[in-house]
Amino acid sequence: MRDTFGRTIDYLRLSVTDRCNLRCRYCMPEEGVPPVAHQDILSYEELLLVAEAAVRLGVKKIRVTGGEPLVRKGIVDFIRQLAQLPSHPEITLTTNGLLLADMADDLKQAGLSRVNVSLDTLRKERFEQITRRSGLEKVLAGLDAASRVGLDPLKINMVPIAGINADEIVDFARLTFKHPWEVRFIEFMPVAGNLDYSPESRFPAPAIKAELERLGVLLPISRQGPNGPARLFHYPQSRGRLGVIPAISNHFCAECNRLRLTSDGRIRPCLFSDDELDLREVLRPEVDAAALDALLLKSIGDKPEKHRIGEEDFCRVSRPMQGIGG
Ligand code: SAM
Ligand code: SF4
Repeated sequence: MRDTFGRTIDYLRLSVTDRCNLRCRYCMPEEGVPPVAHQDILSYEELLLVAEAAVRLGVKKIRVTGGEPLVRKGIVDFIRQLAQLPSHPEITLTTNGLLLADMADDLKQAGLSRVNVSLDTLRKERFEQITRRSGLEKVLAGLDAASRVGLDPLKINMVPIAGINADEIVDFARLTFKHPWEVRFIEFMPVAGNLDYSPESRFPAPAIKAELERLGVLLPISRQGPNGPARLFHYPQSRGRLGVIPAISNHFCAECNRLRLTSDGRIRPCLFSDDELDLREVLRPEVDAAALDALLLKSIGDKPEKHRIGEEDFCRVSRPMQGIGG
C-alpha cells in the first residue's frame, strides 16, 4: 500500500488495552486514566479481523502495544493467532517488562519474533519515582528471560528527561558492551497526560548523541531496508547497538510506514494528529469486510505529509500515549 506521498505503508501498531500496571509520569496520571468501557474495547476477534484485512492490504509487520499489552487476559493466544495469519506477518511487542519474566517463554512459543522493553532508569528509587510503582528487578529479570528464549534482537526504549534520568544515558549505553541488545533513546514527546514534565524537559537528540560520545567514538551503522526511525550507532567494542530517535527535533515523517489502531477501534493515520477513523462502524453490529478494507485504505490516504509539532498551530494531541500505544 502506498500513501499520497509515495510512502509504503506496511506496519500496523495494535493497541490492545489502555490499562497499565505502571503510572509513568510522562504518560499517565497517578489515578490512571478513566478506563475505556469494556464494550468499547475491540475484542480479540475484532482485532484479528482488522489485522487480517491490513495483512491482505500489504501490512508485513504488526506490533502489539498498549497501555501494557501483557496485562490483557488471553494475550498469548491472541499473539499466536496473529502469527498464524496468512503470509505470516512479523509479530513484535512493546512492553514495560514487568510481566515478561513469566511470559517470555510462552510468547516465544506463540510465534512472537521480538520484544521492545521500555525502561527509563537502572536505579531502584528512580524507577519508583518515574513509574510511581516498584518492580525494577522484575523488568531486569524480564530482559534476561527475553534474551534467554531468543526474543531478539532485544530492544530497550529509554526516554531521557532533563533533570530526571538523562544522566543515565551513558549507563544504558554501557549495556551494549555486555549484551547484543539495541538500546534506543527516544525524544520525549509533548502529548496529553505528561503534564508532570514540561515540553522544556525534552532532552533533544543532539544532546543525547553528545552524552553517548562521552563514552567512546560513535560509529554510524548504515541502514539496510526500512528499520524504523532510529539512527543507529555502535562503539568499536560494542556487542549491541545504539539508536537515537529524534521524534521531534528532526522528524522522520518522510520514512513513516505505519498505521496505529487504538484499543477502542480508531485508526490513527498520524501519532501527532487527532484525526481518527472509527473502525467500529464497519465491525459492529456485524462485520462489513469490504467497508473495513475501504476504511483502512482511506486512513492511508489521510496520512499527513508530516507532523506539525513546533508549528504555530500545533495543539498537544488529546490522547495520552497509553491511549495510542506509542
Ligand atoms: N506499556 C508499554 C511500554 O511502556 O512499553 C507499551 C505502551 S507505551 C505507551 C509505548 C512507549 O511509549 C514506551 O516506550 C514509552 O516510554 C513511550 N512513551 C510514552 N509517553 C511518551 C512520551 N510522552 N514521549 C516519548 N515516549 C513516550
Ligand atoms: Fe504504562 Fe507504558 Fe505508559 Fe508507562 S509508558 S504508563 S508502562 S503505558
